[in-house]
Amino acid sequence: MMYADVIGDPIAHSKSPLIHGFWLDATGVAGDYRKVRVTAADLGVYFAERRADPNWRGCNVTVPHKVAVLDHVEDRGDLRGSIGAANLVLRAEDGALIGINTDVAGFYAPIAGLELEGRPVTVIGAGGAARAILFALARVGAGPVTLLNRSPLKGAALLAAFGLKGRALPLDAAIPPSALVVNATTLGMVGQPPLMVDLSGLDEDAVVYDVVYAPVETPLLAQARGRGLDTVDGLDMLIGQAAVAFELLFGAAPPRDRDDELRALLLA
Ligand code: NAP
Repeated sequence: MMYADVIGDPIAHSKSPLIHGFWLDATGVAGDYRKVRVTAADLGVYFAERRADPNWRGCNVTVPHKVAVLDHVEDRGDLRGSIGAANLVLRAEDGALIGINTDVAGFYAPIAGLELEGRPVTVIGAGGAARAILFALARVGAGPVTLLNRSPLKGAALLAAFGLKGRALPLDAAIPPSALVVNATTLGMVGQPPLMVDLSGLDEDAVVYDVVYAPVETPLLAQARGRGLDTVDGLDMLIGQAAVAFELLFGAAPPRDRDDELRALLLA
């Protein structure tokens, strides 16, 4: 039977098996989707073993491997020169491993109706998720972008890499008025400290987006809702990026008209 994995370290929190399992059942596709803890040191061994298995269709890639995984795959879409991170590896019929990024589509879909061209945006974080987000923001002409990160130098390098105007500041800097604020750090995630930011400088039409999905209601989103701001949670992005991946891995379109049912399952 064909199967796929999600790999990361840690991986216990991953909701991807629930999502893909729900869609496998719904579409009647005979397949399996598993979570596998793979350490950074074991990435090479993992791919060598899986590559030899024709039933393995590929894997989703999560924290902390989204950048490092590019060293183990063919980069046919020039992810290195563009987004700089992959969250999906597909095994081609000839055994080639191909790196893909579906986080960009997953991130952007829930805010596609938001006018961002020429508008200020704040992004918190400079890891793999932030790269996908900055790529999407650059494509829609958003900016200036204020990038807050534990290491602002890393943030400045990312702004330059994506050709975005703006400033990179430390994590404790004030959030300026922004049309959109996105948390792309692991802060707020289960087992991690909360993200301590002050949203009082935002106008009432600002949207606050947290890509963390475990828990779904993060302290950041709770603060935003408390201020009456619109919010987007990490499940929206998670389901969006998974939908693109599911079709590529299993060759069937997931039933997006059942997203409410899926969200309820993920929140149970
Ligand atoms: P990553 O590449 O490891 O980047 C982690 C980011 O968090 C970096 O900016 C890092 O700062 C910051 N960080 C980590 N620990 C910190 C700490 N103790 N204090 C301050 N900053 C800290 O991870 P990622 O792949 O970008 O993922 C980030 C989050 O997004 C995770 O929670 C992941 O689950 C979530 N995510 C969700 C989706 C979705 O579909 N909803 C998709 C992708 C990712 P430095 O740069 O200073 O190290």
